[in-house]
Amino acid sequence: MARYHIETYGCTSNRGESRAIESALREGGNRPAESVADADVAILNTCTVVEKTEQNMLRRARELEQETADLVVTGCMALAQGNMFREAGIDAQILHWDEVPGAVLNGECPTPTPDTEPVLDGVVGILPIARGCMSDCSYCITKQATGKIESPPVEENVRKAQALVHAGAKELRITGQDTGVYGWDTGERKLPELLERICEIEGDFRVRVGMANPKGIHGIREELARVFAENEKLYNFIHAPVQSGSDDVLGDMRRQHQVREYREIVETFDEALDYWTLSTDFIVGFPTETDADHRKSLELFRETRPEKVNITRFSKRPGTDAAKLKGLGGQTKKDRSREMTEVHREVVGAAYEEMVGTTQSVLVVEPGTGDSMKCYDEAYRQVIVRNASEHGIKPGDRLSVEITSHQTVYAFGEPV
Ligand code: SF4
Repeated sequence: MARYHIETYGCTSNRGESRAIESALREGGNRPAESVADADVAILNTCTVVEKTEQNMLRRARELEQETADLVVTGCMALAQGNMFREAGIDAQILHWDEVPGAVLNGECPTPTPDTEPVLDGVVGILPIARGCMSDCSYCITKQATGKIESPPVEENVRKAQALVHAGAKELRITGQDTGVYGWDTGERKLPELLERICEIEGDFRVRVGMANPKGIHGIREELARVFAENEKLYNFIHAPVQSGSDDVLGDMRRQHQVREYREIVETFDEALDYWTLSTDFIVGFPTETDADHRKSLELFRETRPEKVNITRFSKRPGTDAAKLKGLGGQTKKDRSREMTEVHREVVGAAYEEMVGTTQSVLVVEPGTGDSMKCYDEAYRQVIVRNASEHGIKPGDRLSVEITSHQTVYAFGEPV
């Protein structure tokens, strides 16, 4: 749970993106800071309408970089001219709006809602299947608020999913601190059964499975991969936060899994699915992380090629065991974060480049900036369709699109 400071420049659409970021941050248990100096992270949502604005954005980014531990730059200038920040020597994570909430989480699991009641937002139904986790990560403050997992019965979650679909949900997001350990408190591993039962609900909808720690899904990886392969309603997407490529660091983080287990999950999904997306998280600059550990994380990144990745520089959370360790210098954390961000850009750039020229079936999920729509293909890759009103498309529609080009974390598609 971080304290954040957010500044927004430019048009109403950009302000809308900031509202969406803030709402996701608050839902994740984060809180606004009283001042920039008190913030764990500052978010600059930029505009790039004229040259003078660009200069103002660079100046403001420089000021915020000095005043806070971490700076995230997002918005139009970040996406169109992210290089300008790098060339100006500004140390910031340059991110798409959608990537910001994940990057602010500090490696902790999200706390999607204060309880486990479902929420319908447009055509997106958010279904928290359980609250709490089975872990005790040494850097985590979320755990203090959420406690051990308590899993409602499968039947109850299926009823909630049914209600969301009947109310108009076209995308169901299965969430929780750790969806992979759903049922463990009752002595059973129930995620595969729950997903199969939800996919049996009649209706035209897709299901995205939220964060599942590697420890929880390693033991059910084959069954889970089979369920994904057999059910078209499931997006072929898993979010398994590995956090480090070094077993020593994972031990100090008390992460419960080892690198080998994460690798085996990826191998199993690679065998079961032709087209799928791996999402993960890395914490860089954990107090005990050596240069060699960092290199292992980079190697693991290149080997497993996750596309959607939250890279978080370690920061101390009060009352946690990791906060008692002597931290690494800020520059070391910045350098490691920058190196990993470069690798991420290579990986995701290559993946999206391969999509250009292909035709994908997408679900239109929500409005994007201007007259565009955010859509997701079967591997939960984001595809932006521009001139939505001209094409007459709206959230909830399914369409085929030809991928024409891509930006760092999304592709552009034209309806065919
Ligand atoms: S799995 Fe770890 S990071 Fe996630 S909520 Fe539990 S203790 Fe925190």
